[in-house]
Amino acid sequence: MTADRVLLLIIDGVSDRPCPDLRNLTPLQAAKTPVLDRIAAEGICGIMDTIGPGIRPGSDTSHLSLLGYPPESCYTGRGPLEAVGTGILMEPGMIGFRCNYATLDNAGRVIDRRAGRIHDTADLTRAVMDGVDLSPFGIEVLFRSGTGHRAALAFRGRGLGACVSSNDPKKDGVRCPPFRPLRDSPADRKTADALDSFVRQADAILAGHPLNRNRSKRGLAPANTILIRGAGEMGDFPPFSERYGLSGSVIAAATLINGIGTSVGLRRVPVAGATGSIDTNLSGKVDAALTELETQDFVLLNIKGADEAGHDGKAVEKRDFIELIDAAIEPFLSVQGLLLVVCADHSTPCSIRDHSADPVPLVIRGDGVRIDAVRSYDEIACAQGGLNRIPGSALMPIICDLINRTTKYGA
Ligand code: ZN
Ligand code: ZN
Repeated sequence: MTADRVLLLIIDGVSDRPCPDLRNLTPLQAAKTPVLDRIAAEGICGIMDTIGPGIRPGSDTSHLSLLGYPPESCYTGRGPLEAVGTGILMEPGMIGFRCNYATLDNAGRVIDRRAGRIHDTADLTRAVMDGVDLSPFGIEVLFRSGTGHRAALAFRGRGLGACVSSNDPKKDGVRCPPFRPLRDSPADRKTADALDSFVRQADAILAGHPLNRNRSKRGLAPANTILIRGAGEMGDFPPFSERYGLSGSVIAAATLINGIGTSVGLRRVPVAGATGSIDTNLSGKVDAALTELETQDFVLLNIKGADEAGHDGKAVEKRDFIELIDAAIEPFLSVQGLLLVVCADHSTPCSIRDHSADPVPLVIRGDGVRIDAVRSYDEIACAQGGLNRIPGSALMPIICDLINRTTKYGA
């Protein structure tokens, strides 16, 4: 018997280093995880360099790598993937950007880079989208709200470059720098000039918008400007379904992960209450994955909160969230014909509050898998497993082989 469906559960940033707050255990070692440990006991384990040994992955580059899209050739910056994640239809060659709504004082200085963490930006975004005109540049503008104070912008037009600086001063109390081309090229110059025009027009629209006047009256920071960064040209992604002959879905709270999934042709499944934090709707995400597995060959489920706890340096919080995840994923154990793959996209050690290149623990459980001696899912135990240490680029080939979707190499 072989499995015929795949759940790839990526517990974002879950792996770690020894934490003094946890008697020098990692949060995965310290957490009580009967379900993950059972998966390890019934599966084959290993550790994985999601991009390569010693390379500190971003969540974007590591997800691309795990899906079999080498970031060295496929990754063109975060902007275009964020734009896809907000629902903008990005075609190869379009330029995408990440945006923040922010607050300027009367002198034009940035006083809040997140506009009081505004979250209801739909009206503002619509007003900007309808009001800004870049037709003198031959550019069609697409602008969408993301989660919270975030948004994404895309330009469609000829002769545009993506090597441009940001207008984000990165700190409060100073004015926004103008956009600059980072190379001596007419294409980059055109994009920089168009971005300056976009922000000038958007600022005028936002300044007089009723929602902002109302916020000011209530003592809240108005969202009266837009900070733009992460410029990149949309790449050309061969569809996942053609690469592997598998239909698939993506379930994630983060716009970026949804953008990556959608870019490779996975179906995006929104889940109410999915926040990307430790207060996320775990059972809602698991239920959505179970439903998708009824019709799809492959489901990518990303759970983000452990990464956030790592960035905040909160080892105990990270351990406790791992226990919540463990309880929530139990229903996957009884899905017939399922190849259950659990890993992280990178380590986010609490001690460094950022991603590290430490390899992540990996387990694969399903019909036909060679079961090794590993009995618990953590960084140290999995290193003893039958998969040994593999690069992230090997994951999809191994998965496809285990579900009998590979063809023989040679006679
Ligand atoms: Zn990540
Ligand atoms: Zn992170």
